[in-house]
Amino acid sequence: LTVLGLESSCDDTAAAVVRHTLGEMPEVLASTVYGQTDLHAAFGGVVPEIAARAHAEKIDVCVRQAMDQANVGFDQIDAIAVTAGPGLIGGVLSGVMCAKGLSAATGKPLVGVNHLAGHALTPRLTDQTAFPYLMLLVSGGHCQFLIAHGPEQFTRLGGTIDDAPGEAFDKTARLLGLPQPGGPSVEHAAKSGDPKRWRMPRPLLDRAGCDMSFSGLKTAILRARDEVVAAKGGLTEQDRCDLAASFQAAVTDVLAEKTRRALELYLAENPTTPTIAVAGGVAANQTIRTRLEQVCAEHGTAFTAPPLALCTDNAAMIAYAGMERFRLGHTDDMTLVARPRWPLDKTAPALLGSGK
Ligand code: ATP
Ligand code: FE
Repeated sequence: LTVLGLESSCDDTAAAVVRHTLGEMPEVLASTVYGQTDLHAAFGGVVPEIAARAHAEKIDVCVRQAMDQANVGFDQIDAIAVTAGPGLIGGVLSGVMCAKGLSAATGKPLVGVNHLAGHALTPRLTDQTAFPYLMLLVSGGHCQFLIAHGPEQFTRLGGTIDDAPGEAFDKTARLLGLPQPGGPSVEHAAKSGDPKRWRMPRPLLDRAGCDMSFSGLKTAILRARDEVVAAKGGLTEQDRCDLAASFQAAVTDVLAEKTRRALELYLAENPTTPTIAVAGGVAANQTIRTRLEQVCAEHGTAFTAPPLALCTDNAAMIAYAGMERFRLGHTDDMTLVARPRWPLDKTAPALLGSGK
C-alpha cells in the first residue's frame, strides 16, 4: 500500500508518502516538513492564529513537494491520511480540509488519524515492532506510558499529572534565554554543563505507579535562575549550561525510574517481557535515549527509538498510522471532524481528557 499523510496539528506543516508491503520494512518515500519556528519566534511560543494561517498557506505546497519527491501520482496512492486531532484546532482544520478536498477530487479514501497514535505507532514504521509493546510517548504536550495492543488499542498505565516534559524544556529555554524549540537548545547547553550543580526536584518518585509531574521543575529552574541573577546581576554562559544540565538530569531520572515502574505494571498483567519504545519530540534527546536504553538493558528488554526526524512532528508517522487503520478497513468520510482533544486510551477518565 502507498499512503499520503498530512500533519498540521501544531507548528509544523508536513506531508509524506509511505509505502509498505506486508512482510517487508515500510519505506518513507518522501517526508517534507515546513517548520514555523521563525514565525513564532518574537512571541516566545506558538500563536494559534498565526499557525493556522501558515498551515493553510503551506499545506498544498507541502503535499505537492512530497508527491514530487516520492515520484508518485494520485493514481498510485491507496489512501489519504490526515491528523484529525488532538492539537491546535485551526491547524488541524487546515489539514483536514485539504485532505477532504484531495479525497473528493481523486476519489481516494480518507483516513483520519490521531496525532498521538502517529507518535505511538512510529516504532512499527521504523522497526516493525510487534504488538503488544510498552510505549513512552513523550512530547511537547504529552507524556504517558501506554501499552500498544493494536493500531487503535492503547491502554494508559500512567503519565504526567500536569505539564509535559517538552513544555518544560521549552519553558526552561525561555528562562535561560536560549532559542525555541527549547529541547535541542537545552540539550546542547547541557553538554557543557554540570548536572550536579543544582539538585532539581524529582517529584512522585516516592509514589507507586508511573505518574509523573514536571510543573515543579519549571518553578525550581526559575528560582535557581533568579538566585544567580540576584547574586551576580546576570547569568554567565556556564550558569546557563549548568542549569540546563541540572534540569535535563532531573527529567532523565524521572523518565528512567518511571519506565522501570511501567515495566513492573506491565509484567504484573502480562507474562512476556515487552519491547520498550519511546517516541515523541522529547525522544530526540540523546541523554534520555541513552538512559532509557540502559534501563532496558538492565531489565533484559528490547528497546527502540525512532531516528530523530521521526520523533518530532512529521507526516510519515501519520501516513503509516493511517495505513494501519486502512488495513483494518477503517476509513472516514466527509463528516470527519477536527478534534482539539482526543485521548488515545478511550477508557481514560474524563479528568485526563486533555490526553496528558
Ligand atoms: P504533541 O505531540 O504532544 O501534540 P507536539 O506535536 O508539539 O506535541 P512534538 O513535535 O512531538 O510535540 O515534540 C516537540 C517537543 O519536543 C518540543 O517541546 C521540543 O522542545 C521537544 N524536543 C525536541 N527535540 C528535543 C530534544 N533534543 N530534547 C528534548 N526535547 C526536545
Ligand atoms: Fe507531536
